[in-house]
Amino acid sequence: MTATAPREEQLWSRCAGCATLLYRKRLRRNLDVCPECGEHARLAAPERLRQLVDPGSLRPLPDQLPEADPIDFVDVLPYPHRLSAARASTGLTEAVVCATATIGGHPAVLAVMDFRFLGGSLGCAVGELITRAAERALDDRIPLILITASGGARMQEGALSLMQMATVSQAIAALREAGLLTVSVLTDPTYGGVAASFATNTDLVLAESGARMGFAGPRVIRQVTGRALPEGFQTADVLLRHGQVDMVVQRRSLRGRLGALLAATSPTRADRPTRPPVPRQEPAPLRERLADPDPDPDAAPALPADPTPPTTAETPAVRDAWDTVRMARHPGRPTTLDYLDSVFDGFVQLHGDRLGGDCPAIVGGVARLADRHVMVIGHQKGHTTAELVARNFGMASPAGHRKALRLMRLAARLGLPVVTLVDTPGADPGVSAEEQGQAAAIAENILTLTVLPTPVLAVITGEGGSGGALALAVADRVLMLENAVYSVISPEGCAAILWPDRSAAPQAARALRLTAPDLCRIGVVDEIVPEPSTAAHDDPAETAHRLRAALLTNLLPLLDVPPAMLVRLRRQRFRRFGSTRAGVRAGAR
Ligand SMILES: [Zn+2]
Repeated sequence: MTATAPREEQLWSRCAGCATLLYRKRLRRNLDVCPECGEHARLAAPERLRQLVDPGSLRPLPDQLPEADPIDFVDVLPYPHRLSAARASTGLTEAVVCATATIGGHPAVLAVMDFRFLGGSLGCAVGELITRAAERALDDRIPLILITASGGARMQEGALSLMQMATVSQAIAALREAGLLTVSVLTDPTYGGVAASFATNTDLVLAESGARMGFAGPRVIRQVTGRALPEGFQTADVLLRHGQVDMVVQRRSLRGRLGALLAATSPTRADRPTRPPVPRQEPAPLRERLADPDPDPDAAPALPADPTPPTTAETPAVRDAWDTVRMARHPGRPTTLDYLDSVFDGFVQLHGDRLGGDCPAIVGGVARLADRHVMVIGHQKGHTTAELVARNFGMASPAGHRKALRLMRLAARLGLPVVTLVDTPGADPGVSAEEQGQAAAIAENILTLTVLPTPVLAVITGEGGSGGALALAVADRVLMLENAVYSVISPEGCAAILWPDRSAAPQAARALRLTAPDLCRIGVVDEIVPEPSTAAHDDPAETAHRLRAALLTNLLPLLDVPPAMLVRLRRQRFRRFGSTRAGVRAGAR
């Protein structure tokens, strides 16, 4: 190699779309859009901000958070090594850059994700920074703009990364309630947990030209369906055709378009409130917040105490995580319909999303639990291959998520508590599920649960698979059967990405901390429901008896809490999953 080669590489760059060799300065002048074919190259977050905001208006928000390796994750490399490498190569602290600025003279808070940083993955720190950005928008009463670029949740942070979908969603919900505009701009690529939460539950969703967005990635969908994907699948123009985005915008028009939207929704002088905005409070230093676990004096501790170890005499023998995974997937394990028969009385099943579908993978309806009426919603698998196929293996379609949403809202209107039974390998990763808006359907459920004004009690009964599980599991109390698992990604999926091959699934299962005791320790799960000495499928009647007792113990105290207090406490429960208490608690063990 000659000495001039590196410099040559810096001067020229090859277009990923048409392979034309382009002069870098010319490309940059054209906003990194290929002048030959129109391909929009990925942008680093600082460059994106430079392109979008009024010159001189940018005020970066603080981005310093404590080091976090909340579950001590190690694949072929320890997670902190991957973090250090990402920091060194990008010059960023994390995969998002947040700032206040003006666009066309209108103030906004911006959170811009950077795909170069560990694939723009959503971990505790990213969730915390975006949540703080949203809180800043709320304090300043200005719109929030999210520019997304992400492969999904950060699996090295296990279920805590999954919780970030709820944490950020509830911050978006607070802006909704305050009547403040939220906008997301999907850039290429936006997938997984980011697509199924804040990228799609904003008021407006714009897609940059050529951007791909979906819940499941194309590789997974091809594997599951064994079919070639339709032309333009998951790309901006097709998303527009399927009603999933408001508009597709060329990069050169993005700043003007955002400015126009901000202008249209900013109060005119005549209707601007005369009341001064709420004075902004900088978040207390982390150390103080850690020292004071309950900074809200109104937050009466009305709920049962913090995670307690199982109260059974049969202290469970420590089982390997991979054995637990196999147990959780056992075909004999009781399903939601089994529990509806054995734990509840008088179940009346309700069907349909009222938009054109009834998904067999989700069952729900009204039932009685010890003579109290409740709304029960759960994933339904089956015991035989025919049942499993008919129920799509418990993988809900968008229609299933929308049916669940309808039943949750109905429950709130009727004053019924919601009990959810979670048992799914994940949301349906099929072509039509994507076309019908799987990501947005999950996102809306998560957001709605964060503000649902009625008690919500979730039980992970078998497999708690990723966003599909969380779509039913944002709750006041989260219980977990002893041999259930709850994870941001399947061990096989994690192994395929981070290890040389999928045969490392047992190692991945251990690294992901997906068992009930692990999740109890980091606060994702509040209580373990002990199974009979062998397992749930060996004694379904005893399992049902124990589940019923646990449901009653946890539900009854919730019934006395006023709805506003309930929502506030639920929000606190999920707010703490930032890189703060939960992370430190896990790290300290
Ligand atoms: Zn090109």
